[in-house]
Amino acid sequence: MARSFPLPSSPADADPSCRRCDAVCCRLTVVVMPEDRGVPRWLVERNAQGVEVMARDEDGWCAAIDPQRMSCSIYADRPAICRSFAMGGAYCLDIRATYREQRLRGIPLTLY
Ligand code: SF4
Repeated sequence: MARSFPLPSSPADADPSCRRCDAVCCRLTVVVMPEDRGVPRWLVERNAQGVEVMARDEDGWCAAIDPQRMSCSIYADRPAICRSFAMGGAYCLDIRATYREQRLRGIPLTLY
């Protein structure tokens, strides 16, 4: 799987952008709600708690990710939780910083 994006620039990450990111937010658990009717069922699985979530690939990214572009292949139909995720918000900055640290230190990436 091609992952050619540079590391986020710094833990402080003053200028976050989806265009320069490995879609790190797409490694988080994405709960699929009944209202998310456009999500293809083959991309949905039930987790250990019985909650429907987006399936993940072997590397931990959402199964809907386009690995060549690191972008969402179902963007128009993505779950509501993905729509509400704020680029540059506190959660975005936090997971980008964690991802950067793990990559720099060669630590296996942890799923959330
Ligand atoms: S559905 Fe799309 S936006 Fe949501 S986590 Fe998966 S790839 Fe990312």
